[in-house]
Amino acid sequence: MWNLPVLPRVHQPRRLVIVTSGGDSPGMNSAIRAIVRSAIHQGIGVLGSDRGYTGLVDDELRPMNTASVGNILHRGGTVLKSDRCDAFRQPDIRARVARQLRERQVDGLIVIGGDGSLTGAHLLATETGLPVVGLPGTIDNDISGTEDTIGFDTAVNTALEAIDRIRDTAHSHERVFLVEVMGRSSGFIALAVGLAGGAEAILLPDCRVDLPGLVRRLNLSKRRGKNSSLLVVAEGHDPRLTSRLAEQLSENGHQARACILGHIQRGGSPTGHDRLLASALGASAVDHLCAGHSDIMLGIQRGVITAVPLDEVAGRSKPLPTGILELAHILAN
Ligand code: ADP
Repeated sequence: MWNLPVLPRVHQPRRLVIVTSGGDSPGMNSAIRAIVRSAIHQGIGVLGSDRGYTGLVDDELRPMNTASVGNILHRGGTVLKSDRCDAFRQPDIRARVARQLRERQVDGLIVIGGDGSLTGAHLLATETGLPVVGLPGTIDNDISGTEDTIGFDTAVNTALEAIDRIRDTAHSHERVFLVEVMGRSSGFIALAVGLAGGAEAILLPDCRVDLPGLVRRLNLSKRRGKNSSLLVVAEGHDPRLTSRLAEQLSENGHQARACILGHIQRGGSPTGHDRLLASALGASAVDHLCAGHSDIMLGIQRGVITAVPLDEVAGRSKPLPTGILELAHILAN
């Protein structure tokens, strides 16, 4: 749990708009609920943008009230829908969006999404002066400036549940299973799932696969009496990597099967952790707008809710935690 920062109240927004954009993540609904109810509690009107930035561009905004966010806290996805919106990449379109919002007496925007969405949020804030607060909403946890993102914990737990089931079959049939997890070009899900799921090896995105080394390791495990193994593979730019690797291991004496978890990791009911994170960040985003802050993202740093300039978030890459790969290796022996 996190302390909610107490901020000076210098401004009373009339209306704010919520945008969920990019890939959906479990907990986005919990954040929407927290924003709507905190704002209404403070006398601020709330609109929801339909389908991410598309709703802003097409001026499709729906009024939200306490009842409209009832019974959504535990639901995956986003009730506001999400979309990829190429038009929003154009500065003149963003200028028009800001004009439309001001005409509707909107003086605050909260954007929940991944790196692309936060980049758009940063551009809108700097180019038009519209107050904008971003929240990191992605299962990938690949957002700079925060240790955690809304949806990461749920995705890790979903993948772990699948891995525990796969392990039963791997054990019964004395096989090697290569389980491919999501995470785009980052390896946060793979690292977490590999360590917590007891993987024999974790293959990070686009790493050079040392096939002879992997075979040697599996041979050694077999000699020690371990006749089934699980390898976690991060999705990368090569969509065939996992199945090709399974074929290569089979050719080298290890009955191997590939299992690609895919989109099951994106949906599902958010874990308690993600609900808490989303609720705390959502409520805090409203407080930051009331404190007159803009062009920031709220994240977690050293266990504290922290505001980071969007400039230091957008387009930045976040390094993987060190030591986890080696620890997973040691613990799997
Ligand atoms: P995510 O937010 O999950 O990283 P995307 O990268 O697809 O997902 O971005 C979501 C949306 O954010 C895009 O469809 C676009 O509307 C907006 N966006 C992304 N990158 C930019 C950019 N460089 N400039 C303006 N808007 C952007």
